[in-house]
Amino acid sequence: MTQQQAVFNQGLISFLQSSPSPAHAVKAMVEQLEEAGYQALNEGDEWQLQPGQGYWLTRDSRTLIAFRLGQDAIAETGVRMLGAHTDSPCLKVKPKAEILRHGSLQLGVEVYGGVLMHPWFDRDLSLAGQVHYRNESGKLKAALLNVEKPIAVIPSLAIHLNREANKNSEINAQLHLPPVLGVKKGDNPSLVFRQLLATWLVREGHPVDEVIDYDLCFYDTQPPALVGLEEEYISSARLDNLLSCYTGLQAILAEDTAPKATALLVCNDHEEVGSASAIGAEGPFLESVLRRLAGEGQKYQRMMARSMLISCDNAHALHPNYADKHDENHGPKINAGPVIKVNANQRYATTSETSALFSSFCEMADVPYQHFVVRSDMGCGSTIGPIAATKLGVRVVDVGAPQWAMHSIRETAGSKDAWYLGQALQAFINIWDGE
Ligand SMILES: [Zn+2]
Repeated sequence: MTQQQAVFNQGLISFLQSSPSPAHAVKAMVEQLEEAGYQALNEGDEWQLQPGQGYWLTRDSRTLIAFRLGQDAIAETGVRMLGAHTDSPCLKVKPKAEILRHGSLQLGVEVYGGVLMHPWFDRDLSLAGQVHYRNESGKLKAALLNVEKPIAVIPSLAIHLNREANKNSEINAQLHLPPVLGVKKGDNPSLVFRQLLATWLVREGHPVDEVIDYDLCFYDTQPPALVGLEEEYISSARLDNLLSCYTGLQAILAEDTAPKATALLVCNDHEEVGSASAIGAEGPFLESVLRRLAGEGQKYQRMMARSMLISCDNAHALHPNYADKHDENHGPKINAGPVIKVNANQRYATTSETSALFSSFCEMADVPYQHFVVRSDMGCGSTIGPIAATKLGVRVVDVGAPQWAMHSIRETAGSKDAWYLGQALQAFINIWDGE
């Protein structure tokens, strides 16, 4: 790892650590944007935008769009877009959450997205997300909450009580996943959790009278770490896809001071559940912003014809213990550069043109790149790329840093790959002449 890569990774690690929920990830990105002089926009206001200036806006505090206007007319240059997603599979607390089972206080949880469930057992879990409350004067307010300290655990069943555990151990999400928070106090558990939330929020300075509702997920308190004899790997929760959010953000922030073309970063929530929501990639947020940037007449169509989106979402690296899960010619390696994802059935939006363009960005940046195609006898995952391509009719390439253990509570990526990806994204924004 070079010095530059080490500095980049420290930034990534602290971003991962401060982003246990999509709303926290957006907050951490907004802090960096504001520090770099980007100004807040509100969708409900009339916008007066200045060339060369950066702006950001959010929906529901969980989906972010940031852009910096170029000096040249946007219909002539198009928009250089980077896309990623802020959400990760997790366990979300149900509205009436308290469960008393045999003397233990537990919380009922919904499974959000394609959680790999076994790794969630025996972790020191905490809670984070958004809480809506009434203050002392009866007004509805929203707050971010990150409890930080470990307050719950999902204990495994001892092997002595299930001798078959290493062969087949099915997990019933309703029965087996509710985390244990402590021992029962009194017979009626109702409202215990909302009172706890109120106490935590008051401690952080919020004038809570009553907690009304929340969107909270459990997360693992173990901090991210560099792992390997020579720190070859980054181990963390939520690498899919906060690694891409962070890398995209750094690429936008590293932009030239007087760029010709407009660059834009969109980080959507709800990718892990199919993207169909007001704030997901299938919703109208990005198109609405792009139409406002383009202006009247045929400018939108002219702008879009010259635009391109790099959709960044981590890719499955070849696992040395399960190498037969990859096509023999398309098994991406850790620390061998960003992966161009190809699927003939359009589960990825990459075309031969956009693939060729992305490989040329990698060459401009002097970083390696590789390809992924799923085995022909296996189904293929998907991401926001095909959705954005379908909605906007824009050129899209689906790429991502290679990683292991996707959707585990602890994932592993290479300590060089986020930096490599970032260099390619910067070449797209700053060096590419648009041809
Ligand atoms: Zn993802």
